[in-house]
Amino acid sequence: MMRSSAGLDIPYVNLKAQYAEEKDEIHAAVERVFSKGDFILGEAVAEFERQLSRRFGFDYVVALNSGTDALMLALLALGVGQGDEVITQSNSFVASAATIVQVGARPVFVDVKPDQCMDPAKIEAAITAKTKAIMPVHLTGRICDMPAIQEIADRHKLFIVEDAAQSIGSTLLDRQAGNWGDAGAFSLHPLKNLNAAGDAGFLTTKHADVAERIRRLRNHGQTDRNTVTEWGINSRLDTLQATLLLMRLERLPNIIARRRANVEAYRRLLNAKHVFSPPCRQEEFNTFHTFVVQVDRRDELREHLHASGVGSAIHYPIPIHLQPAAAKLGSKPGDLPVTEKQAGRIISLPIHQFLTDGDIRRVADTVNGFFK
Ligand SMILES: *Cc1c(COP(=O)(O)O)cnc(C)c1O
Repeated sequence: MMRSSAGLDIPYVNLKAQYAEEKDEIHAAVERVFSKGDFILGEAVAEFERQLSRRFGFDYVVALNSGTDALMLALLALGVGQGDEVITQSNSFVASAATIVQVGARPVFVDVKPDQCMDPAKIEAAITAKTKAIMPVHLTGRICDMPAIQEIADRHKLFIVEDAAQSIGSTLLDRQAGNWGDAGAFSLHPLKNLNAAGDAGFLTTKHADVAERIRRLRNHGQTDRNTVTEWGINSRLDTLQATLLLMRLERLPNIIARRRANVEAYRRLLNAKHVFSPPCRQEEFNTFHTFVVQVDRRDELREHLHASGVGSAIHYPIPIHLQPAAAKLGSKPGDLPVTEKQAGRIISLPIHQFLTDGDIRRVADTVNGFFK
């Protein structure tokens, strides 16, 4: 069932429109970097880190090669490794669990609530003597119930690594995603709300020593050009990407505002009898990396949308614990009833910043028409 976005009137993403809008600025940025030649850890990388700290109130920011590396290095720097367990969600992008495995630890999945966030009531039963950390995933741009998760982590002396890959700029109780736990991991993948032209990410932390260690680990464990104090990796953010991201950081508030307005319009228009979208909590600011709704006959609806020229996506059709790679972890269908049920009902509708009010109305009409 391969779907191409070619010929769709309303594609799920529209990176070409973004390029058209930014063309001159992008070319100027490329010119600046090439004429200077500071491709690796140039001034723009440090400036990007400073801007993120200033705008979002993060204590320390380390720019990295991807959100995946941010998760992995966060776990490494906090000392999570062989024999440890990390509690996380199965309804996420595979990187959440994969990075836990990569550092030698074992992911332990807990179920989620109707809003797709980690269910705090399920955490304590999953804690063992080996548990070292909790990795809540702020899926879709919605922050998990962090006060409750924090309380459990404090009581059991566990680290919190936030998978904030989808939630730059989101807040709960006026506190930013990535600013709750011991570390936060953000992705700047081309399809994220703040997007690079390729792989990119960053890590936040409130611990000076963690930041310092990750700064070292991202650059071969070097403290200076000739001294390697521990084995590291190469996970530096390119100067070229940082230059582009500094420009896009200026546009992010508008992009988020557009996405939020699109969701508001959908909520007015979509027939709530057939389409469930978790309402926003009063104390949250949701940046809507995705607008995921839950419906019956999801696959049929998706075909219907596609036939009507409307793109959509599924984030994600197979929960991580049911992936072939997870077989050795011993999980089986039925382990996470809410996660598994949602996997068959979720569909992400287009909400990117280039959609018009008319586009939103057309998507909503197409969805409502399907259920008539
Ligand atoms: C995108 C994403 C990641 C991985 O980020 P990359 O930058 O692609 O490595 C991790 N977790 C979640 C929830 C994501 O959406």
